[in-house]
Amino acid sequence: MEALRVPQPLAGESPEWLSNLDALLERQGGWSTALHGIITKLKFNTPLTVEDGLTLYHHPNLSEVGALANAVRTARFGRQAFFNSNVHINQTNVCVLACRFCAFRRGPKAKDAYAMSVTEYVEDLGKYAHAVDEVHSVGGLHPEWDVSHYEQMFRETRSAYPHVSIKALTAVEIKHLGQRSQITTKTVLQRLKDAGLTSLPGGGAEILDDDVRAIICNGKESSEEYLRIHQEAHEVGLPSNCTMLFGTVETLEQRLQHMISLRELQAKTSGFQCFVPYPFLPDHTRLPEAQLASGTEILRTIAVSRLLLNNIPHIKAYRMNIGDHVAELALQYGADDIDGTVQKESIMHLAGSTAPLDHDRSRLARLIRDASCEPVQRNTVYSTFTPYTAPEPTHRRLRMAQ
Ligand code: SF4
Repeated sequence: MEALRVPQPLAGESPEWLSNLDALLERQGGWSTALHGIITKLKFNTPLTVEDGLTLYHHPNLSEVGALANAVRTARFGRQAFFNSNVHINQTNVCVLACRFCAFRRGPKAKDAYAMSVTEYVEDLGKYAHAVDEVHSVGGLHPEWDVSHYEQMFRETRSAYPHVSIKALTAVEIKHLGQRSQITTKTVLQRLKDAGLTSLPGGGAEILDDDVRAIICNGKESSEEYLRIHQEAHEVGLPSNCTMLFGTVETLEQRLQHMISLRELQAKTSGFQCFVPYPFLPDHTRLPEAQLASGTEILRTIAVSRLLLNNIPHIKAYRMNIGDHVAELALQYGADDIDGTVQKESIMHLAGSTAPLDHDRSRLARLIRDASCEPVQRNTVYSTFTPYTAPEPTHRRLRMAQ
């Protein structure tokens, strides 16, 4: 079988990860016969197919699928689990669209509609800037804001807080700004990069299948547009993340094809840093036919994404969505990143998330250590990695019998 090797080690991973993987798979041994074909492909870094993904989804032993994903994650990153110090500021909830899974958007005349001015945004960030090195900002498609609004917002942010990286605007927001400003999406991206944008979050991918999109987010960017805008971001030098919203109306095949579409773009651009799979949360949404995902399905989907996405370095357990307890478990099912300190977030919490917002670095580190991993603080673009060495608080030690 021909080996398909990624030319450069991916951000933060061991250059010897394939030989590490060989050793880990041998040491563990006793793998089910049904998984042997997949294991051979993993050893040669051969991309898995939709059929392989279905085998993993239907395999009766979830722990074994998790162990396989954990072996790949450990071969690449050892026991390291990455986090960053960030804050989420959602600049407006006013949106011209009305995706059925969205509990966040408001019409412009709604009582609780809001739109932060540039000054309000920079002042709000000022409350957290001493403790963060990233601001994550996504919001609604405001009917009046164009690219110049965001240029000013990013320039003033960078001027006030040069140490804070700006990860902002999903693909549909970029498309909206292009339409509002009557320029191409690539020009929007270039202008925003020049104004201080560091990277793009991956939100809005949902499921990259236009039949699914017509049901859950009619009017949003098409699958092709999502991929094209991320390709353009990579081409102008903006790395990005990519996501998958699962548990609405999609089939397993559509989930797997979604992952493969992202993998194929990554093979061209190498611009994706992280894949973030998260389940649909139903509170205050309009999607009663959604299947919803159980805890085990979340863990299995994280494991499958680690195994299918062999060229996207990081898999994130997005604790804002899945909660701290499942996120901690996910670190044993292929995830290697747990997002950040966050401190403030609206979109997931309006849809039903109860994940705590008040984490500081030591609490995140504790969560990571409880999953038998080593906390490592990273920057926005995964180019610096600093082991977090603050000691465990003594009051958490288990009492020993006298
Ligand atoms: S998901 Fe985004 S684009 Fe869709 S309604 Fe909500 S804020 Fe608007």
